[in-house]
Amino acid sequence: MASQVYYFDFRVTTKDTNFKKFGRLLEAVNLKGIVQRKKKRPLIAIKLHFGEKGNTSFIRPIYVRQVVDRLWEYGGRPFITDANTVYVGTRAEAVSHLTTAIQNGFAFAVVNAPLVIADGLRGTAEVAVEIHQELFQSVYIGEAVVEAEALVSLAHFKLHELSGFGGAIKNVGMGCASRHGKLAQHSNIAPKINQKKCTGCGDCIAHCAQEAINLEAEKAVIDPAECVGCAECILTCPYGNIEIQWNESIPVFMKKMVEYTYGVLKDKPERAVFLNFVTQVSPACDCYGHNDMPIVGDLGVLASRDIVALDQASADLVNQSPGHPGSCLKDTAPGSDKFRDIYPQIDWEIQLDYAEKLGLGSRAYELVKI
Ligand code: SF4
Ligand code: SF4
Repeated sequence: MASQVYYFDFRVTTKDTNFKKFGRLLEAVNLKGIVQRKKKRPLIAIKLHFGEKGNTSFIRPIYVRQVVDRLWEYGGRPFITDANTVYVGTRAEAVSHLTTAIQNGFAFAVVNAPLVIADGLRGTAEVAVEIHQELFQSVYIGEAVVEAEALVSLAHFKLHELSGFGGAIKNVGMGCASRHGKLAQHSNIAPKINQKKCTGCGDCIAHCAQEAINLEAEKAVIDPAECVGCAECILTCPYGNIEIQWNESIPVFMKKMVEYTYGVLKDKPERAVFLNFVTQVSPACDCYGHNDMPIVGDLGVLASRDIVALDQASADLVNQSPGHPGSCLKDTAPGSDKFRDIYPQIDWEIQLDYAEKLGLGSRAYELVKI
């Protein structure tokens, strides 16, 4: 059965403004319905990517404020959240992550809700959620997301070098995973220590709770048999000598991401709302400290209770649109597959197919213009 995806474009007037349209979108998707009023303090996680330092294509904080204000009004206790990254950038632990978020405009004074890093100070505040699927028995999700009663995913829809595009499925599945969970999606083997650069200082040994790192000939060595892939050591090395082995095949990576999405949403049926901002559609992830020219114009904001239908509709809108001349697209014709144009080796439909197979939603949708 086709799921409804609500949508507004950016043709506005003085009477019908962007925020008025956005408000109607939130009503159409029944944002109010996720707030459990029977609970005294229903905690609502608003999952967002704050953008790496230097990136400018993430969602504008003033839109986030619109969502927050409504959730307060409905009796919810909203907080804005993301989990730490597994690579060492400006969002790998909570202090840098919160600093980056505030520098990118997500201060309390702007968004009217506290920021909470879902997997804690160093990414170890996680919950193992049992899912018993093809690739994972359990997935590791940031504690704050699991403990929240409801979830609002606000995703910036853009292209992605591993999944073709990054939309709601990626925002939820990868974004809510703890550092441990992110490493499990990207790699199936232990991190690797750069032996040439290792000084033998032993910091990583002291931090590995599994005692999986030993000093051999004054160099640290990871025992893969003992390593559980928690990713703590990557952050610990003061010289950045411990590297992720990005070895997971792309189809398996996408399926893992979908299984994580399943784990995040498992205890929140009927209490999750998904929005995609199809704006500044950059050719790569917001995890980079830059963003190349958008490949299409700003197409609008989409919302649905069906995460699969939402991502499918967003991808279709991008592909149906003419591409920007001067962008990195080779073929700018309306109807061309923009994702395969830039990432020809990636079958972006795998994530949608597998998500539909797991019962997360439907690829069939009805686009309802607000
Ligand atoms: S990933 Fe975790 S378990 Fe593995 S070596 Fe590093 S700290 Fe130890
Ligand atoms: S913390 Fe880094 S430099 Fe020190 S022993 Fe571990 S890998 Fe080597």
